[in-house]
Amino acid sequence: MILILFGAPGCGKGTQALRLVEERGLVQLSSGEMLRSAIAVGSELGLRAKEIMDRGDLMSDDIIVGMVAERLDAPECANGVILDGFPRTVAQAKALDKMLCARGIGIDHVIEIKVDEASLFARIENRAAESGGARSDDNADTLRNRLAVYHENTAPLLPYYEAQGLLRSVDGMASVEGVASRVAEVVG
Ligand code: AMP
Repeated sequence: MILILFGAPGCGKGTQALRLVEERGLVQLSSGEMLRSAIAVGSELGLRAKEIMDRGDLMSDDIIVGMVAERLDAPECANGVILDGFPRTVAQAKALDKMLCARGIGIDHVIEIKVDEASLFARIENRAAESGGARSDDNADTLRNRLAVYHENTAPLLPYYEAQGLLRSVDGMASVEGVASRVAEVVG
């Protein structure tokens, strides 16, 4: 199974992905986590990523696509994966289509978690407080840019997937449990 969790930064993609990992044995592939790991080990990619992530901009499509493709081939992904934070541009979505087509598989569902943007500032503030500021991009200034980047580069994926009949939307303003049960209905 290939699921894409989709939505603005702070909408709850990561939280819902973890639930699906626990309940369905799927593997979460988070492009943001992959980049944070690269930062943690201090690789050259990590150094570059940190600057871009702190601004709230996007990493280049080629780097991200290569990183995800490598992970997709890991044996633990054979049961299915949840893509969290990828794709984020139409070019990434097209590269993903190619990648999956070459492996004889397809996307099962694209689940959009819809939230009221004004609430995202409070959510990100909360996440920063709960994690002790673990993510340097969890602040109001960076979030403003992440949202602008989301509208410009990522939101065009909604009509892209809608045209393919893959898009399902859930109300992300519900409780974590409420969102999880709607996601479970979609996944079936
Ligand atoms: P996330 O953890 O998904 O919120 O991602 C954190 C940051 O990592 C983003 O603001 C981007 O700078 C970078 N990033 C994560 N995923 C992607 C992607 N698919 N394409 C480009 N940049 C990404």
